[in-house]
Amino acid sequence: MKILSILLAAVLLFPTGQIKKPVKYIALTFDDGPHPEYTPQILKILYEKGAAATFFVVGENAERYPELVRAEFDLGFEIGNHTFSHLRTNEKSAGALYDEIKKADGIISEITGEKPTLFRPPEGRHNNKTDEIIKKAGKKTVLWTIDTRDWAHTDKYKIIENIKNNVNNGSVILFHDYIVPPSPTPDVLREILPYLKERGYEFVTVTELLRHKADIGGVSSFFIG
Ligand SMILES: [Zn+2]
Repeated sequence: MKILSILLAAVLLFPTGQIKKPVKYIALTFDDGPHPEYTPQILKILYEKGAAATFFVVGENAERYPELVRAEFDLGFEIGNHTFSHLRTNEKSAGALYDEIKKADGIISEITGEKPTLFRPPEGRHNNKTDEIIKKAGKKTVLWTIDTRDWAHTDKYKIIENIKNNVNNGSVILFHDYIVPPSPTPDVLREILPYLKERGYEFVTVTELLRHKADIGGVSSFFIG
């Protein structure tokens, strides 16, 4: 009887369909593109699955394939800056970083009419000196919490396992749309997107994820403001 009354109370309190599960947020990010083969494939998969994402484009690739950056933008994806030439920043090259960010900004905004607010340093390399330069260039630095290592042609099943084992509310997953063929990424997305959706994850852009700061328990693991 006790169980029955608990059940009854549950039904009364939460009429069918109104039980609100807390939403979990996740940001899919794609670096180094656009790529003539993989970017359209990835866009199609994301669009069909209704998944938002953020593309950290390399300026010289954006210059080569402006129509793909335009497609990303027109489909509502967020575009971030990933330098002009994929400059691997260190103490020696820090001085060139400002110009690289500005040059990529110029190319992107010529295509979309908007300057990105987010920046991802190539290979995640940054230090106090480069953080200052990135800030001076008006950008916020976004790193990641899950590295798929897809660029190294990691086996797709290993990538899927890695995501399944490490994903949580507020994850930022690092993928690449520019990869020397063959890329495991489209196949990984086809499998992992429905899996995550079933488990209550909502795919958002990085900017949107930052807005949900409080719901995901902070952003210090992937964000330098
Ligand atoms: Zn990169």
